[in-house]
Amino acid sequence: SVPASIASSLSTGARRGLLLKGGAVIESTAKASLVTFDKTGTLTAGKPVVTDVQAAADDHDEADVVALAASVEAGSSHPLAEAVLSHAESRHIAFSQGADARVIAGHGVEASVDGHRSYVGSPRYAEDQGVLTEALKTRIAALEEQGKTAVVVFRDGAIVGLIAMRDEPRTDAIDGIKDLQALGIRSVMLTGDNPRTAKAIADPLGIEFQAGLLPDDKVTAIKGMVAKDRVIMVGDGINDAPALATADVGVAMGSGTDVALETADGALLRNRVTDIATMIRLARATMNNIR
Ligand code: ADP
Ligand code: MG
Repeated sequence: SVPASIASSLSTGARRGLLLKGGAVIESTAKASLVTFDKTGTLTAGKPVVTDVQAAADDHDEADVVALAASVEAGSSHPLAEAVLSHAESRHIAFSQGADARVIAGHGVEASVDGHRSYVGSPRYAEDQGVLTEALKTRIAALEEQGKTAVVVFRDGAIVGLIAMRDEPRTDAIDGIKDLQALGIRSVMLTGDNPRTAKAIADPLGIEFQAGLLPDDKVTAIKGMVAKDRVIMVGDGINDAPALATADVGVAMGSGTDVALETADGALLRNRVTDIATMIRLARATMNNIR
């Protein structure tokens, strides 16, 4: 019977760490024609590591840049903040926690450090604040072409330095995209990161991308996709809840699965990109059994 077939698929999936919330979700998953991935923590490991620190001028050294950045990032739980804080810790760079920290979604974070308004943010945000010079833009572009995310550390309208970080793709990301291609499914990466970094990460994976997206832009991008395709969105489930809800099927991947399962239609508990294709194959087989 139909309910028995669906129940059996749900339990087969669950044994492999593939959770889908019922028959309607299985049906949509079977019909998917496009999978869109959030970059950070989904296609990448979500554990960026600091690769470069550059002081902007002679009156600062690299430790000053890291200390100020860490003071500001102490008020954020973003993966980039964790990278800066663990870099400060591993280099034994002392810093004080900033006060009145404020997250500027999709842009960075600001806090008061020793009485100065201090910022760590994207180059685009630094440019909007009027602190970026042409020389810095050139340095930033070179870092981004290596697939690194550069953030700008500034205070009282003046640049203190740059920090670059690299978040490696998951080891099975290439295979995960290839498996989808073999099923006739297109893949698109979405990211708030800049287009140069996005391209350096996406090209080796063989995936299309849309970059420079603010959180609302991700929702708009998915609305555009849903108008033409049956869309599965794969994200971390915490920051991506609105995007997951906009897709036909929202699938959470990553460790925040308690939160994720409330907002998503499904979850991948084993953190494998290749599990998306496995989930779709299971859903297709289920629908074939019913027909
Ligand atoms: P993603 O799509 O990778 O999750 P986000 O929307 O979280 O991107 O962030 C977009 C960009 O905003 C980052 O690439 C970075 O430049 C900047 N940013 C966000 N949060 C922080 C932070 N805590 N510290 C520094 N920069 C940040
Ligand atoms: Mg994110």
